[in-house]
Amino acid sequence: MLELSQVCASYGGPDVLEDVSFRVPQGAVCCLLGANGAGKSTTMRTLAGLLRPVRGSIRLEGEEIGSLTAEAIVARGMVLVPEGRRVFTPLTVRDNLEMGGYRLLRARRHAEFRRNLEHVLTLFPRLAERAGQAAGTLSGGEQQMLAIGRALMSSPRLLMLDEPSMGLAPLVVADIFATLRRLRDEGLTLLIAEQNARVTLRSADLGYVLQEGRIHGGGSAAELREDPSVQEAYLGV
Ligand code: ATP
Repeated sequence: MLELSQVCASYGGPDVLEDVSFRVPQGAVCCLLGANGAGKSTTMRTLAGLLRPVRGSIRLEGEEIGSLTAEAIVARGMVLVPEGRRVFTPLTVRDNLEMGGYRLLRARRHAEFRRNLEHVLTLFPRLAERAGQAAGTLSGGEQQMLAIGRALMSSPRLLMLDEPSMGLAPLVVADIFATLRRLRDEGLTLLIAEQNARVTLRSADLGYVLQEGRIHGGGSAAELREDPSVQEAYLGV
């Protein structure tokens, strides 16, 4: 569904991503593993159109999207749940979700907007209970649910998540990943950037390892779990 080929990216200085190539198959949970500073967020930002690749190609269903704006990429069905959630804290839960669906409202796709809202509130009943509450008063886990819900409001086909487990208790993380698997089972394609390889490889179908801005191998989740270098560097074995 998504294919990166020799993507290089930089923040003006030396390249932070060097010849990054990988594929995300349709309907899969694909993970991008790597330590702090490996370039996971940079990859996600580049895919989301927040950073222009210096070189290389990014294709979504065969169509080059590397030079599109962030908004155009969302319109093509690829949405990022950013690191640190970035919910609009003074706004209510409902308003945050509506912001996620503003594109649909602008295009007068009201029925689709209502369907998405219903889906999100069914997926996360806690958001329904707290619809009128300011997002800033939610727990970290609830804010992560809200960030995912907000992204789902725009009808994505490919959902990208940057460090969804960050700062959350293990039970909350398990809950979030169970929801991500459910979304996969409903037909969504997911790309998850994570430092937490142990938890992520339990839910992923396949993955890649990013080190110092380069891809250092990849395979099915089972292969990665058995890979001695992955075990040593990311699974504490
Ligand atoms: P983390 O889990 O800490 O977010 P990461 O794998 O997501 O790590 P990136 O945030 O993509 O890594 O960082 C990759 C490299 O790019 C690092 O060397 C970092 O210092 C650099 N970098 C990240 N953001 C910027 C920026 N805005 N300007 C300049 N350099 C940056």
